[in-house]
Amino acid sequence: MGRTSKDKRDVYYRLAKENGWRARSAFKLLQLDKEFQLFQGVTRAVDLCAAPGSWSQVLSQKIGGQGSGHVVAVDLQAMAPLPGVVQIQGDITQLSTAKEIIQHFKGCPADLVVCDGAPDVTGLHDVDEYMQAQLLLAALNIATHVLKPGGCFVAKIFRGRDVTLLYSQLRVFFSSVLCAKPRSSRNSSIEAFAVCQGYDPPEGFIPDLSKPLLDHSYDPDFNQLDGPTRIIVPFVTCGDLSSYDSDRSYPLDLEGGSEYKYTPPTQPPISPPYQEACTLKKKGQLAKEIRPQDCPISRVDTFPQ
Ligand code: SAM
Repeated sequence: MGRTSKDKRDVYYRLAKENGWRARSAFKLLQLDKEFQLFQGVTRAVDLCAAPGSWSQVLSQKIGGQGSGHVVAVDLQAMAPLPGVVQIQGDITQLSTAKEIIQHFKGCPADLVVCDGAPDVTGLHDVDEYMQAQLLLAALNIATHVLKPGGCFVAKIFRGRDVTLLYSQLRVFFSSVLCAKPRSSRNSSIEAFAVCQGYDPPEGFIPDLSKPLLDHSYDPDFNQLDGPTRIIVPFVTCGDLSSYDSDRSYPLDLEGGSEYKYTPPTQPPISPPYQEACTLKKKGQLAKEIRPQDCPISRVDTFPQ
């Protein structure tokens, strides 16, 4: 891909670099905040699945500006340091990582937990949705340990076939659950964000990391998936309608007239999983895909007689 082709295609990618954000995702959190005032009164926050760190950047600027804020960022991948952000490298679905995060908030709960986690998508929609749901539930489980009553949880969600199950689970723990689609999130993507406000676990609920949350043992009213009692959460689009549309292509000279100047990414990933493939490609050693039409003879495999 050329140096400007992605810039041409994706206006938020370009704006992120111009404004010093590590990823275009920063706009999603900013647009969600505009709609839901997520950062109001927040001094302690957890950013789950944080790399390369644009949400942590937003959090550290919005709540850590006076030096009083406290942000804990967690990801499988290493992340370049950010001022006022404590980093933990680990898998949020693992007990050991969850325990490490919880330790940071002993006696001083968090006001906000955000999770922009996404699995490496396989293209098999059911599998991708299932993996995404598992990440969300792992994040929710951690949130039940660290959130203060009334606190807020925001997590990426795939609006797939079984999303109602997740909504009903979230409604067990929060007085308000909405599904929000920021303008910077492509329409063509099934991604949206569950915005859960007013943390209010059911009476008698004891957070337990070893217990999956989808056990239907709390408040059966919320777990009716069919019929008229089915949970339907409001769907909200956010971000100014006159702001850029993430599905459109815009000219490179956005301001009109001024010559376009390429801006390098603010912070490239430190050791991305695709690094080895890039090195092999540079050396011309990356195995090429063999397409059936490239095979000289069409072969029919037969079992030995
Ligand atoms: N919000 C980030 C930002 O603004 O820079 C972008 C997050 S990116 C879309 C998704 C991240 O989820 C990846 O960095 C990936 O490593 C992380 N992730 C996926 N599964 C994870 C897991 N089980 N535990 C921790 N992080 C995970």
